[in-house]
Amino acid sequence: MKKSRKILGLLAGALFLAAGCSADNGNENVSADSSSKAEVSSGATAQTYNDPEEMKDAYDIIIVGSGGAGMSAAIEAKDAGLNPVILEKMPVVGGNTNKASSGMNASETKFQKEEGITDSNDEFYEETLKGGHDTNDKELLRYFVDHSADAIDWLDSLGIRLNNLTITGGMGTKRTHRPEDGSAVGEYLVKGLSENVQKRDIPIFVNSDVKELVKEDDQVTGVKVSVKGQAEKEISGKAVIVATGGYGASPEMIEKARPDLKGVVTTNQEGSTGDGIKMIESVGGYSVDMDYIQVHPTVQQDKGVLIGEAVRGEGAILVDENGKRFVNELDTRDNVTAAINKLPEKSAYLIFDQGVRDRATAIEFYAKQGYVVEGKTVAELSDKLEFAGDDLVQTVDTWNKAVADKSDSEFDRTTAMEHDLSTGPFYAIKIAPGIHYTMGGVKINSKTEVLKKDGETIPGLFAAGEVTGGLHGQNRIGGNSVAEIIIFGRQAGIQAADYVKE
Ligand code: ADP
Repeated sequence: MKKSRKILGLLAGALFLAAGCSADNGNENVSADSSSKAEVSSGATAQTYNDPEEMKDAYDIIIVGSGGAGMSAAIEAKDAGLNPVILEKMPVVGGNTNKASSGMNASETKFQKEEGITDSNDEFYEETLKGGHDTNDKELLRYFVDHSADAIDWLDSLGIRLNNLTITGGMGTKRTHRPEDGSAVGEYLVKGLSENVQKRDIPIFVNSDVKELVKEDDQVTGVKVSVKGQAEKEISGKAVIVATGGYGASPEMIEKARPDLKGVVTTNQEGSTGDGIKMIESVGGYSVDMDYIQVHPTVQQDKGVLIGEAVRGEGAILVDENGKRFVNELDTRDNVTAAINKLPEKSAYLIFDQGVRDRATAIEFYAKQGYVVEGKTVAELSDKLEFAGDDLVQTVDTWNKAVADKSDSEFDRTTAMEHDLSTGPFYAIKIAPGIHYTMGGVKINSKTEVLKKDGETIPGLFAAGEVTGGLHGQNRIGGNSVAEIIIFGRQAGIQAADYVKE
């Protein structure tokens, strides 16, 4: 491929940062507000995309979607000796993966061992199952935990090092792997995966909206794609991997699945409109768990920017508008959301100190957006927040005693209590719940083959990432979606390659 024919683009991570994810596709993120994309260019990492004219009529493997799942699949397929292509409908790569903030969960990893953390795949399995209220797809979950450490090693081998550990709600130990400097995982991941895609000369076409899967004799043989809004063109592939993400940015699909969520702000990028689910259903696949939609408890409401769980994971507390705690902040997302929604004001404040700010560097981004209120002392912060009385001072004192005693008699919090809140200045971010992640999606098996209702596979069709349903059950644990996209993205690339070679 001649570099001169490639188009210069901007790395999506930088775009989204300037705009305002996360999987914690985690997708903890930044707003998908396209109007702010123009702000981004400065500091953006140059990224080349292929000229649409270079698009061929046939590839070995067509990958639809350029988030973490799609790019992981592409790298594995290429390394298996095949010729994959990535088609992305947005002008930049990365999808909601860009917005992931907390990190990537994995058990029995070398980085845990280096820190003396004892963990086991079985505990990771059990805690995820408990977090999902025992509704998770157990075949997928088993594959997931058993391949998590290998995924961390694989990323490391690609130069993507996640060796800084934290904890997220519902997990019993530090298994959330972040970049060394504690920054948000998503952009770092997208940058690292993009570089590996480019290094391998895997063609990547943006503004390429896949509209339909092509099926011949029960077998998927290609896609129809519209580039820059032009007439659809058919491209054939010996296998197709659908990695189009979720439907958190489709008000219609959200409302259909959950009428009670009509009008709730979303943290998702605008391309997360459930296209893959619709396309797969129309060739005989089916979806599960569509009404399991994760509402993240801590979202800044102006632009739907998710305030990552790492802020609580590093020690922040949540208070109501009287400055009083009301929940175990590290409970699962559904429980923390329910507690906020029970407050008369249906919003709350994250309270933290300089220590938390130093350990969770994503806070610098929130500060740049103007979301962080600062006080030299807790009393000054309370005044700035216009809290009545000195309840916040009392709350922080009581919390610091609980940390010292390792016992939270008020709300039974047991994790993220290594550090108290005593290093000024002190900070607050106002938050309320927002639509964050869609647990539902197409039914696959642990080989990422798309299944029909009769349990048969659809030959040539694979799916991975948020477009699939079942792994998380009713409630996804923070840090598990980044793990999902890497683990199952890789698997889709490997399995599709095997299928093509057969
Ligand atoms: P995951 O976390 O599962 O990898 P992401 O949201 O990070 O999911 O990425 C999915 C990507 O797929 C996004 O960049 C999104 O814009 C892209 N996408 C969604 N629908 C289509 C489509 N119809 N054609 C091409 N790309 C799509």
